[in-house]
Amino acid sequence: YIMSRKPIIAGNWKMNKTVSESEAFVEAVKNNIPSRDLVDTVIAAPALLLAPMNTLRQGTDLQLSAENAYFENAGAFTGETSPAAVADLGIEYIVIGHSERREYFHETDEDINKKAKAIIANGVTPIICCGETLETYEAGKTAEWVEGQITAALKELTPEQVSNLVIAYEPIWAIGTGKSADANTADETCGVVRTTVEKLYGKAVSEAVRIQYGGSVKPENIAEYMAKENVDGALVGGAALEVDSFLALLDFVK
Ligand code: PGA
Repeated sequence: YIMSRKPIIAGNWKMNKTVSESEAFVEAVKNNIPSRDLVDTVIAAPALLLAPMNTLRQGTDLQLSAENAYFENAGAFTGETSPAAVADLGIEYIVIGHSERREYFHETDEDINKKAKAIIANGVTPIICCGETLETYEAGKTAEWVEGQITAALKELTPEQVSNLVIAYEPIWAIGTGKSADANTADETCGVVRTTVEKLYGKAVSEAVRIQYGGSVKPENIAEYMAKENVDGALVGGAALEVDSFLALLDFVK
């Protein structure tokens, strides 16, 4: 198994699990994760769960992510999560712009750009999500849609900052539906993301940036995606909620 960019497999728990459930999960997986020299293995969990999970995973290859954060570090923003507080724990990533946040919580491309800047300023790596609706997909407008989202999300970032971040392409029609995009379609649109980065930041940056596919990825289909040139990882919802299934997502590394 050869890849120029280190793969990154991230579970996205969404609003699932209690603190005690998350602790049991971390205990069960933490010593069964492949070396982080080979693959970045991440769980994105609700903010409330992160501090106890972080304590339990110390000294292991399990990495952690928040599922969202605000674009200010402190202040009168009741109910929000500070990126500085996430950074203070030593948590590696923060997911931003997930389609559920865009749809149910009205996050805009501009918010996502502000969040990306705040996260990077705190030394944390953003995982920036993009993806089109079924309507856009069926109208054949996926490429222009995704290019627009990425261009807006990356506005005013430096080439070095963009090289180090992660982008997740998740077609909304494939999230939680069991209807995954086939591997060629995923590769093609991850390729659109890469070409967009190349137009904005040049070849070296586009070759370095890591792009995940997400949407009904599971142990049975992950290897097909990982074999594709433009797919450097996966963002996995449903199939990351059970210990056996989560660990089986990492079998492609062996
Ligand atoms: P899914 O979710 O794997 O359950 O389709 C993916 C996601 O929303 O990140």
